[in-house]
Parts: sequence; C-alpha cells; structure tokens
Amino acid sequence: MIDSDNRKPILLVALGGNAMIKKGQEGTAVQQRDNLKVTVRQIARLSQTHRIIITHGNGPQVGNLLLQQECCDAVPKMPLEILVAQTQGQIGYMIESCLDSELMAQNLNASPLVSLISYVVVDEHDPAFKTPTKPIGPVYTKTQAEAASWPFHKTAKGYRRVTFSPKPVTIVEKHEIKQLIDMDFIVICCGGGGIPVIREGRAFSGIEAVIDKDLASARLAVEVGADLFVIATDVKGVATNFGQKNQKILRTLTLADARKHMRAGHFPEGSMKPKVEAAMQFVGIPGKRAVIAFLEEIEQAVAGKAGTEFVA
Ligand code: ADP
Ligand code: MG
Repeated sequence: MIDSDNRKPILLVALGGNAMIKKGQEGTAVQQRDNLKVTVRQIARLSQTHRIIITHGNGPQVGNLLLQQECCDAVPKMPLEILVAQTQGQIGYMIESCLDSELMAQNLNASPLVSLISYVVVDEHDPAFKTPTKPIGPVYTKTQAEAASWPFHKTAKGYRRVTFSPKPVTIVEKHEIKQLIDMDFIVICCGGGGIPVIREGRAFSGIEAVIDKDLASARLAVEVGADLFVIATDVKGVATNFGQKNQKILRTLTLADARKHMRAGHFPEGSMKPKVEAAMQFVGIPGKRAVIAFLEEIEQAVAGKAGTEFVA
C-alpha cells in the first residue's frame, strides 16, 4: 500500500460486460455508449467525494475482435493478449468520453481522465496453465471446432474456444495508478482483467491466457489501498438458489456464510463465484467494504442502501 495526502476515500468500481452490451444486444457503438451512460452518470457524481478507479470486463468486445479476425485472411491474426490490449483502448476511450460528457452535463468539478494499458503478472507455474477452462470468443459448430487449432469446450450454446485462467499475482502499474488517483485523476485500468504477463528478470512478456476481471480488480483494490470495492453487474446482488423459485437476494453476506454457500454450489464458476471470491478477498482486510450491486444502483451501494454487502 502506498501513502497519500489526498483524503477522499478510494472507490474502485468494477464494471461488468453488461455495462456496455446487454444480453441479447448486438453491441453497436451507439448501444454501448447508451448503456454506459447509466453507470457513468453515477460515477461522475461519486467522483466529487471519492478518488475513482474504474476497471471493466471485455468479454463481448474481445469476442467480436476474435470473430473479426476470423472473417479475414488478408491480414495476420493477432494473439489474444494483443486483442485484450485493443479492447482496453476501445473501452477506455468510450468510458472516458462518456464520463467526460457527463461531468460537463452535470456541471461537476471535472477530474482529468486517463485510461491505462494495464499488465497483470501471473505465475507461469500456476496450476491453471495445465487445463484451459475459460470460454472466449464466438460459438462454433462441432465441425468448425474440430478443424481449428485451439482447445474447445462444448458449452450450453455450442462449441467455444477455451483458454487458461490463471490468478492475478500483482498489477504492474499499481504505483502509477495510485499516484494518478492521488492527483485526482479518474483512472480506467485493468480492462478485461489486464494483459496477462509473466516476469522474466526485469522484463515482462505477454502470455496466452485470460485473467478474471473481478479477481484482478480485487488485487488492484488491495494494492492501491482502496477503501471501497463495488462490483457492478446486471443483478441486484448475490442470491442463494439463483434463478429458482426460492431465490433469495442477500443484503449482507458474512465471509462464513459466503464460504458455506460457495461449498453448496450457489455461485457458478465464471460468473458469480469469482465476484464473491473477489469481494471476500477484499473485506478480509480490516476496515474495507465490498459490495456486489446492480449497475443502476452503484450510488445506493456506496451509500450502503443496495446490493450485497460483505461482512468480515
Ligand atoms: P459480469 O459481466 O458483470 O462479470 P457475469 O455474467 O460474469 O457478469 O456474472 C453475473 C451473472 O451471474 C448474473 O447475470 C447472473 O445471471 C449470474 N449468477 C449466477 N449465480 C448467481 C447468484 N448466486 N446470484 C446472483 N447472480 C448469479
Ligand atoms: Mg463476469
């Protein structure tokens, strides 16, 4: 953790893919900007009272880039980590421009904005490198999957390419991010969980993998000494028996209960489980708050009036 004189509490908001492309939407640029307004409007107001870090997912956007490269053989295909870097640029730009417009529209004190291409160190000996588990990109038919050179999994929707999903070890730019928020910059970073890199001496090199954005965000929240970590998604909070008649959205969740519900299988891999794990890691530190909340209720979540608040 790095010390600072800026006394505004540090709020890290992790935006889910749905902040830009809702389920069932095509994901045009107009739709993405429109969707973003809902969250960005709230973050603009929160920036008056908090130092702000925004992290974000990139699932649909990186999926589209993968599909675009397959539609054309005239230019060389780029490896996954370069596509992740591309999405950090495109999404960072969209969040910046939307947030800037909102700050002006609401006549608020406008902090400067910066989007950082962010690297996240992973451990090359992480057991996650033994088995690819994370589905990425478009859905394929069995024939297409068999003809391709990637590992594939059969999912509910069809065949999808899978890649490794190692744990984030440390955010390479943590000191720079901390300095920027202390100067009252609003920082957008760790998009898509960050570009996974392994350390070779003093150098870093990109590696074929995808880091979960909620786990990377929790790591960053710890490393910059954030006070409050909000994971914003498309449900009102963490539920037990999700999607069933006896579903119950929890207003508070103790670490002991979170562990119990996790063991009982209430939180699936790849969606709610990494969010719960991320929140648990953060509130494990004394004095920290973590809330999993609806994208439209970020301000209420910060005020302690919405979402699922984790309790140590
Ligand atoms: P994001 O893009 O925000 O990371 P995800 O799709 O990865 O969103 O995770 C959020 C989804 O998790 C919700 O839309 C919901 O369908 C699903 N989900 C699975 N289990 C639960 C649960 N126990 N409580 C709430 N949501 C759950
Ligand atoms: Mg997710």
